Amino acid sequence: MQLEDKVIIITGGGQGLGRAMAEYLAEKRVRLALVDLNQEKLDETAAACRALGVQVRTYLCNVASEEQVTQTIAQIAEDFGSINGLVNNAGILRDGLTIKVKDGEMSKMSLAQWQSVIDVNLTGVFLCTREVAAKMIELQNQGAIVNISSISRAGNIGQANYSAAKAGVAADTVVWARELARYDIRVAGVAPGFIETDMVASMKPEALERMTTAIPLKRLGTPQEIAHSVAYILENDYYTGRILELDGGMRL
Ligand code: NAD
Repeated sequence: MQLEDKVIIITGGGQGLGRAMAEYLAEKRVRLALVDLNQEKLDETAAACRALGVQVRTYLCNVASEEQVTQTIAQIAEDFGSINGLVNNAGILRDGLTIKVKDGEMSKMSLAQWQSVIDVNLTGVFLCTREVAAKMIELQNQGAIVNISSISRAGNIGQANYSAAKAGVAADTVVWARELARYDIRVAGVAPGFIETDMVASMKPEALERMTTAIPLKRLGTPQEIAHSVAYILENDYYTGRILELDGGMRL
């Protein structure tokens, strides 16, 4: 897909990886629909992209809400007249051990802690993919969807909720690639390792240090390196159903 003038939606486009993707795609002259919970962050990203001369619209929407996602995607289709791409990037962390025993006291991961991550990181991806794919079929019978999974999909201690959601995203990337190929819609994913963003900055310093030492390339990835992979998937018409792993060699 030639990216110039195409309409691409980025969820969680207000900050972090989503912002880096927005700026990277703006440099390729893409028209952007940025979706996030945080209007201030959306405005900052939109201003940075508009400074590159592209059309940007922002949408306040919780990707975990069926009603909000349905309304927002319909609004984007009306505002732009087409939807060529979607990046399912919005995500949250609510880490904790499933069971922890300290000083004889036992604590457990709460159901709310489990459910909030499943709702945003898995159900949100399902809802956005469903609504956007339906519009792509209606509007032009073509498109590309990029799901942001994570290296944690293999199973990370303290991330029962997050690992389950990201593994689910990777599995459904294959499901949707197979279901939607007949409409010329490609679905693929990126599984980042540890990338320099606020999400990683919220980790405990000793855990972060341990992680960096374990990366064969001995550094975190940059948001631009992830954005580059997202653009690669959007542009490459023969890439579908696979996950690009960008982790500095962590899983070698
Ligand atoms: P971040 O916290 O910096 O940004 C996430 C964005 O998503 C924020 O702007 C937030 O407001 C938005 N968001 C959160 N919940 C939302 C909701 N319910 N509806 C709409 N928007 C919502 O995170 P990040 O580090 O940029 O991560 C982006 C994606 O990459 C996530 O899916 C994350 O799981 C994944 N990821 C990140 C890393 C990393 O190292 N940073 C590694 C692997 C995977």
